[in-house]
This record gives sequence, C-alpha cells and structure tokens, in this order.
Amino acid sequence: MINPYFFCELCKERHELNDSVNCAYSKNQVDWTNFMSFEKCPACQSSHFYIQKDFNKILGCGIIILGIIFVPITYGLSLAIVALIDWLIYYQVPDSIVCYKCKGEFFGIESIPNKILIFDHHIAEIYEEPS
Ligand SMILES: [Zn+2]
Ligand SMILES: [Zn+2]
Repeated sequence: MINPYFFCELCKERHELNDSVNCAYSKNQVDWTNFMSFEKCPACQSSHFYIQKDFNKILGCGIIILGIIFVPITYGLSLAIVALIDWLIYYQVPDSIVCYKCKGEFFGIESIPNKILIFDHHIAEIYEEPS
C-alpha cells in the first residue's frame, strides 16, 4: 500500500497528501485535505478527472497475438486463455486519477469514486489550449 500522493504538473513535483501540501500554485489546505471527494482539483480547481490505467498496452497486444497464433492448435481455446490473462493483468494494475486541466496525477487512491470515468475526448477538448 502506498501513501496517496499527487504528482503536480504545475510544480513538477510530488506532493504527499497525508500532510500539509506545499504547492506553489494552490495554498488552500482545505482543498488538499478534501481531494478524496474529487469535486475539484486542489491544484487548478478544475472539476474533471479521468482514470488512467498503468497498463502496458504493448504487453496486452502481444498476449492477444500469441492467443491468435495458437488458435489452430488449441481449437480456439487459446483465445479464451489469453483473454483471461489479459483481464488478470489489467485488474492487477493500480489506477491513477488524472486532472484534465493541469494533468496532475493522483496515485495510491484506495477508493475511486464511480463518477470518475476513463478518458473522454469531449471533456479533454474543453481544456485544450486554443492553437
Ligand atoms: Zn503543486
Ligand atoms: Zn488540476
């Protein structure tokens, strides 16, 4: 079990979340203490977050390809096996929560609120810098 921390993209620094947080961009300790509710980002005040899996996609694809190669020998059973392996790896990997706006990332969060979903383009567009 790791202690929750926030990797702040604004400070380019790791902020421990079990202590008073020394963030150069947000001094409001109340926000930092209440980060668990994920109502707003303590660093940039944005209210949109997404879940990020630290899942190695190349590894995942490799396993699937192996499964496909063995289909003729195993009569398709290999596909079921690799799907299971894939699923097991996927759920072993801890999630982190990322803020759409400042890209700050929360690690070691034990219970992720249901309202936080995977990355969504439409939300990301709101925060994109106009080019
Ligand atoms: Zn900071
Ligand atoms: Zn933020």
